[in-house]
Amino acid sequence: MTTAADGLAPYAAHENTGRGRRIFEAPPAYRGEYQRDRDRIIHSTAFRRLVYKTQVFVNHEGDLYRTRLTHSLEVAQIARTVARVLRLNEPLVEAISLAHDLGHTPFGHAGQDALNACMRHFGGFEHNLQSLRVVDELEEKYAEFRGLNLTFETREGILKHCSARNARELGDVGKRFLERRQPGLEAQLVNIADAIAYNNHDVDDGFRAGLLDVGLLTQQPLFGEHYQEVQEAYPDLDDRRLIYEVIRRMIGHVVSDLIETSSRNIRALDPASIEDVRATTDPVIALSDDVLEQHRSLKKFLRENLYRHPQVRAMNEETQEMLETLFTQYMTQPDQMPPAFAIQAENDDESVRARVVADYIAGMTDRFAYAEHKRLN
Ligand code: MG
Repeated sequence: MTTAADGLAPYAAHENTGRGRRIFEAPPAYRGEYQRDRDRIIHSTAFRRLVYKTQVFVNHEGDLYRTRLTHSLEVAQIARTVARVLRLNEPLVEAISLAHDLGHTPFGHAGQDALNACMRHFGGFEHNLQSLRVVDELEEKYAEFRGLNLTFETREGILKHCSARNARELGDVGKRFLERRQPGLEAQLVNIADAIAYNNHDVDDGFRAGLLDVGLLTQQPLFGEHYQEVQEAYPDLDDRRLIYEVIRRMIGHVVSDLIETSSRNIRALDPASIEDVRATTDPVIALSDDVLEQHRSLKKFLRENLYRHPQVRAMNEETQEMLETLFTQYMTQPDQMPPAFAIQAENDDESVRARVVADYIAGMTDRFAYAEHKRLN
């Protein structure tokens, strides 16, 4: 296997063969193209707002829970580690990781569901597609173009799922969903790193909130096995450190499996370039069947025991109602939005107005949504 001068594997994303930006720009003088993407994401308004957006627990419920920002940093950290080992493009992986949740509404998945329901007659709302919309259109910072004008590879990685209808409208970056093909390895990697990050940090946050039961959790193979090991090795460890140590080992276990399984898959496929990867129909960056099963089982456990916990649900119902009220109010009184949105919303076409309202609400932080709700009611 040949190695490029920059240390990247031949099947990694290489800047010199990248598909470029939607609007041509001269290459940066002191950075790579994907570093420039990452830097633009970090400088974006949407990125700064991630700190006040819910992952599972609403921001004001406590200072120690994950927010969308710390979640995104954990995704980047996991993905970068794997990228280095597999000799993938680390700045690209970092850019995708930091941008992947930019389109999330306030109040986590409850917010997304509420906004999607409000938008059901107007094309729906999907947070992943919204992340792409944020970087392609909604960020207004540059004199020469709308959005951040990111490279194709970063945009390809941000768009993880997409309906056929939306894919047709998106053009280049939507094409793979119609052809049922895979994106580059960097995009595949961030997709899994996202799941590894939340599965593990939600166990941590769930314990912190006192909503998860250790006895039940030890029945989960991934957790139970490491829990027993740690308990035997350190019988006097207090609960908090015990849980940390277990989570640390779980992440290590899953990430090691990801690296080993993906390495085997890469060797079997032997792709000569990113285009060879894009021609495949199944992911190359993957977990082994056993670990995938353990990982899915933990995800299911968290869905049943944490995301659907009565306490979490009560908060979700409250915040969903809040977003629905805000949506109706802005639809009937668009001038309650800032001028830039209000002007665009002055449109006889209801679906155009609804999209403007959805963009405005999706951009809100948790606490701003609360404040707006209070102001208007
Ligand atoms: Mg995420």
